[in-house]
Amino acid sequence: MPVLFIGHGSPMNMVLSNRFTRSLEDLGATLPRPDVIMVISAHWLTRGSFVTCTDKPRVIHDFYGFPDDLYKVTYESDGAPLFAKHVTELSAGAIRCDRSWGLDHASYSILRHMFPLADIPVFEMSLDYAINDGHSRPIQYHYDLGKKLSLLRDMGVLVIGSGNMVHNLNLVNFSDMDAPPSEWAVKADEWMRSKIVSGTHEDLIDFPSNGGDLAIRAAPTLDHYLPMIYTLAFQEKGEPIRFTYEGFQNGSLSMRCFKIG
Ligand code: ZN
Repeated sequence: MPVLFIGHGSPMNMVLSNRFTRSLEDLGATLPRPDVIMVISAHWLTRGSFVTCTDKPRVIHDFYGFPDDLYKVTYESDGAPLFAKHVTELSAGAIRCDRSWGLDHASYSILRHMFPLADIPVFEMSLDYAINDGHSRPIQYHYDLGKKLSLLRDMGVLVIGSGNMVHNLNLVNFSDMDAPPSEWAVKADEWMRSKIVSGTHEDLIDFPSNGGDLAIRAAPTLDHYLPMIYTLAFQEKGEPIRFTYEGFQNGSLSMRCFKIG
């Protein structure tokens, strides 16, 4: 299976039809059909790593102050507890089963465009990054953990990292999704694009700590950045990458998406 990174942006995208959501529809229609989907979510932050091991994941409306329509959105897919347990085994215990979480909007806001029938089982993986408790790990840890899961691709699992490469909520224009992007955001996105193209993952692993002012603006926290690091960890040497969407929303959110394989 290919591996995807999707920049999900504002929850508003789940009820809109725009250039970004149409790119998701096209992507879903052209991918080989997966047996199972695993979403690595920017919106599930935990101490330790977890996967959802339930038969029927509940939909979590984990956003505030949006129009009523968004709180009625559902995604009635099955879970995939057997595959989730495979993940715990592949990780040699670094990832554990969870039965309390479900699907947050990092999953269903994009899946409802990609796979509107919700007929493919879905489970989520959390990020070992409890920033509110001051808990985080080196980015290299996440990259290495992702590498341990590479066999999932051979098992028919579509792995999707769902975050945003450039994501700073303090510098988002909440009132205008179509606001032109800030110069710094374009610069950061372009720099990351070049590193993805050249396969220099070590520079991307290093960026939030040593990328100076640009990194402080582009990735002040790691929640939306780490799903990209996990996606890259699945890339085999020399394997092609294609950008399936490029652009910005809300003046600084990079909506860049890519597909490996
Ligand atoms: Zn998000």
